[in-house]
Amino acid sequence: MSTMRRHSKKRDAILSCIRRSHLHPSAEWIYTQLKPEHPDLSLGTVYRNLALFRESGEIVCVATVHGVERLDAVTEPHAHFICEQCDAVIDVDAPCDDLRQELEQQYGCTVQRSEMLFRGVCARCKNKDI
Ligand SMILES: [Zn+2]
Ligand SMILES: [Zn+2]
Repeated sequence: MSTMRRHSKKRDAILSCIRRSHLHPSAEWIYTQLKPEHPDLSLGTVYRNLALFRESGEIVCVATVHGVERLDAVTEPHAHFICEQCDAVIDVDAPCDDLRQELEQQYGCTVQRSEMLFRGVCARCKNKDI
């Protein structure tokens, strides 16, 4: 009983950590954030819960950036920009409906979900180079 409650407390902490962060966090980042408050938390527990959240559709994996999976609790389709220099994953607030319409009308496909991803150098990194 007490193990169950502890488990679900960690589960909630992991999920709300992803929801609070707009950084599209990685498993290790979540682990580092929660460890001080949950000293018995293991990276394995974080990974296990993340797999469950993905299965239940509560989070999605946006992309793999330099070998690290980045997560998002915003599951409505939206585009992302990934900076190859600082690994920032930025939400792009622009509609991606045109391509979807094209696919459905011109190609007769039914789109169930979409992922739109841009990669390059963000404004902050660009300014650092000057
Ligand atoms: Zn950058
Ligand atoms: Zn996002």
